[in-house]
Amino acid sequence: MNPVLTELTDFSHMRERIRDTFTDLCAISAPSLREAAVALRLREMVADLPVSVEEDRAGLDLGGDSGNLIVTLPGERVGRIVLAAHMDTVPPVAGRPMAPIVNGDRVHTGGKQILGGDDRGGVAIAVELLRLFAQVDAAARPTVIACFTIAEELGLRGARRLDVAALEADYAFVLDGEVPVGEVITRAPFKESLEIEVQGRRAHAALEPEAGVHAIAAAARVVSAFPLGRVADDMVTNIGQIEGGTASNVVPDRALIQAEIRAFTEARLNELFDRIADSAAREAATVGASVNVTRDRLYDGYAVEDDHPAMRALAATAPAHDLTLTAVSSIGGSDTNILNGQGLPAVDVGIGMHNIHSTDEWISVADLARVTLWLADAILYR
Ligand SMILES: [Zn+2]
Repeated sequence: MNPVLTELTDFSHMRERIRDTFTDLCAISAPSLREAAVALRLREMVADLPVSVEEDRAGLDLGGDSGNLIVTLPGERVGRIVLAAHMDTVPPVAGRPMAPIVNGDRVHTGGKQILGGDDRGGVAIAVELLRLFAQVDAAARPTVIACFTIAEELGLRGARRLDVAALEADYAFVLDGEVPVGEVITRAPFKESLEIEVQGRRAHAALEPEAGVHAIAAAARVVSAFPLGRVADDMVTNIGQIEGGTASNVVPDRALIQAEIRAFTEARLNELFDRIADSAAREAATVGASVNVTRDRLYDGYAVEDDHPAMRALAATAPAHDLTLTAVSSIGGSDTNILNGQGLPAVDVGIGMHNIHSTDEWISVADLARVTLWLADAILYR
């Protein structure tokens, strides 16, 4: 480990501190667009540090009660490193307090309420890194910029409004990986929503059914032929909603199928889209119907290579923390997609979250402490 850190850090004390920071944050109810209480607590936590704190307009734009919070600790060493974590959680169970329970090394909720370790774990790590680097001589540290985003769970909406270019950063560690400590997500897919509108012809169901073109029957054929689920190792699709028709005595003239597709490269995404559009048109045509397929890009995929400086720093420092860096891919989206899409190379660091988005979520304090020190080491690496 970098001697700059060992000189500063009493490991056991740091572990207690990050545990307390984490449970402090987990006790705050703050689902998407209701992050103000967390943002306020974060301002208090960094109040004694030599940082600047800025809040952007994302909350105003999205109808939330807080914007993204950007906390900058300037350093004199070359380099500007972003730490990103989202402040919001999935909706808590109504009528129950947020009450994290510490049980030995584990923090959980006893199964009655969400923990929100996704992503308060990442937020706590970023706070602890700011505290550690604040003790490091400015000449020895790069500039560290913590971006605490809003509305991640609503479709990465806060990160989308972050002025990424203005950060002028070299790369970002996103602290939101639902994978074990040591694993880093360097690859995630593109995602699009699809709407397949099936057009038939309306007719009276009893007087002249022959005159109609049955849009629901056509939609059924389209659905049957749709490549559904894990289409390939690098592609996954879903049909999430279908609607159509007006009354039982009318041959329906319209049905609407709502779907999504994900693939790791744009070329594969286009291939998948073409396959779906062709198959939908062909199936609808067999019963005289037509389709209109529209697509909407929700976010871009990303792939960060193993020899990127961020990955090289993680790989070089991992052994000192009894870790082996493992690059993995994730089929889910995160703020990492948005940062990469905006031109800031970013990887999503596993922080050891378990059973996220559920009342059984738990996290290990030792994991939080270990990933924090590893990242500190990697950020100082050169
Ligand atoms: Zn998350």
